Amino acid sequence: MISVFGSANMDLVAYVSQAPRRGETVTGHRFRTIPGGKGANQAIAATRAGARVAFLGAVGDDGFGAELRATLKEAGADVRGLREVPGSSGIAHIVVDDDGGNSIIVVPGANGAVKGPSGEDMAAIARSDALLLQLELPMEAVVAAAQAAQVSGVPVVLTPAPVQPLPPELLAAVTMIVPNEHEAAALTGVEDPEAALEALLEQVEEAVITLGEEGALYGSRSGTRLRVPAVKVRAVDTTAAGDTFVGALAVARSERLDMEEALRFASVAAALSVQREGASTSTPTRREIEEALD
Ligand code: ATP
Repeated sequence: MISVFGSANMDLVAYVSQAPRRGETVTGHRFRTIPGGKGANQAIAATRAGARVAFLGAVGDDGFGAELRATLKEAGADVRGLREVPGSSGIAHIVVDDDGGNSIIVVPGANGAVKGPSGEDMAAIARSDALLLQLELPMEAVVAAAQAAQVSGVPVVLTPAPVQPLPPELLAAVTMIVPNEHEAAALTGVEDPEAALEALLEQVEEAVITLGEEGALYGSRSGTRLRVPAVKVRAVDTTAAGDTFVGALAVARSERLDMEEALRFASVAAALSVQREGASTSTPTRREIEEALD
């Protein structure tokens, strides 16, 4: 079983010719609501890739909260640890213009009300093969969840996004960190991904740096270094490619695949997701991943 302690957001996406300036009203040509949030994306990716997944987090008592809960449940995630708190769910208000440029407002809403794992969350974490964390919940909550996992000997996989300085007590509880190349550079101050990988390994046991269509780099303190190429595909929408990668990687590791096979499984899953529009809804099923691996 994999636990994900993280965010659930509703993305509200308006497509316009040009984003409005202050005081201006413009008419858009399309609008979509897309269930997302890095926590929910990773939970759905891991569920669809074949694991039992407990999603631990919060939604508001609004319609978006009900929809987010239903989306996670339909994907097959265990949502008993998804609490409802008064007020709005987390939302990302996104304006996309005709040039593909976007401006985004994130309102954490219920995600911001999560101050730490509950007693039931701790019990679920302790029973897990891995705990997946991101940084869209308050830092104190993320640290408390990581420490709960560490005490139980459960590996902690951290996606350090949105990127921010990481407190030493968090790094001390993280087993594997999975930044993209920009996040890796921001965390280490080193631009070159291979050098950034070495800098990360001074702080954590294992690290993966994802490089978009260039694939991914893996390193461990025990001396292993791997590079996996991305699968060559025509990308339509790379939203949540990283979350799909992490969710699938955790599933493969929980099934005791060796690291090289696990990275390949994750790359194939992420490559399938970029060929479809949408975030969590674009993540592939186990069957699709296995067919693409053949
Ligand atoms: P996002 O923020 O969009 O979720 P990210 O920046 O966290 O993504 P990336 O490094 O862009 O993460 O991508 C993660 C993984 O997804 C890559 O390591 C690769 O395996 C796969 N991937 C991403 N883009 C492509 C692409 N264009 N073609 C094939 N695979 C891709």
